[in-house]
Amino acid sequence: MNETERLAATRRVKQVGLTEGGALVVGCAPVDAFNEFVPEGHRPQDILPGAKTVIVAGNKGPTAGAWRSPDHRVMEITGYDFRENVAVHIMADFIEREFGHQAIQAPSLPTAGHHPPMSMMLSAVLAGLGTRSLAANIILHPQYGLLYYASVITTLELVPDQRLEKNVCPAPMCVKVYEASGKTPCIASCPADEGGCLDGKLDREGNISESYYNRERCHSRAMNFGVGSFQKSLAEIVSEPDGQARKTMIYSDFFFNNVSALSFYKESVAQCFECMRVCPIGRKEKILK
Ligand code: SF4
Ligand code: SF4
Repeated sequence: MNETERLAATRRVKQVGLTEGGALVVGCAPVDAFNEFVPEGHRPQDILPGAKTVIVAGNKGPTAGAWRSPDHRVMEITGYDFRENVAVHIMADFIEREFGHQAIQAPSLPTAGHHPPMSMMLSAVLAGLGTRSLAANIILHPQYGLLYYASVITTLELVPDQRLEKNVCPAPMCVKVYEASGKTPCIASCPADEGGCLDGKLDREGNISESYYNRERCHSRAMNFGVGSFQKSLAEIVSEPDGQARKTMIYSDFFFNNVSALSFYKESVAQCFECMRVCPIGRKEKILK
């Protein structure tokens, strides 16, 4: 493929992801871009030999309406989890059918602890879709803020996107809040020094100079209906000596939601969005009639 054909192929694949797949954003990263950050044996070309490109699709989790609902249960159980995967499957099929190149969905769910074989956060950054933030390291897209990402690894060589030159976080408003109070809005919503999960510092130019995120604490708070909390609950239940109390724990709403989350694999729906709720990035996108 020459450069013109590669550009045309890139446009077609992205278009398919955006229109047929329903992705909000699509970006491409060359597999070599991962070398600087990922050790040998764990790179995209180790997952798909001969891989040339990682194509990343981003989509919203909660809708604008869900963000505005006064009933917190809406956000707890009705996220559009895994929606971004649709675009990835459609693009992978399209590449194999139209171009005769191999394409797979990148493995992005944890296989050991909280570690997936491949980081979608890094993929999104390398594909020019966003940068890491002070809020739980979430990758913020400059227009949409929080998005959920999935990606395709393919042997098809496409034209890569440039990484963003400017960090999306902190927003100018957050720098002002930090200068006045010593905390950005996200850190103030979940401060580590008051039992929360976030901390960090900005330098004189308003850039992130230090960042702290307690993932274990956040995981059990933000995803309290999921694998981690099921394990935690089970350990408590089996060590409860009182038979009646044990029965109450097993039949509680909390344990019911835990088991139900497992059976539908709803772990990606979080029960806490507070650091993102206060984040100004993408706020305009959440205001509709
Ligand atoms: S998701 Fe919730 S618990 Fe986790 S860092 Fe954000 S505010 Fe804290
Ligand atoms: S509120 Fe959003 S933009 Fe502001 S510092 Fe936190 S993550 Fe960054």
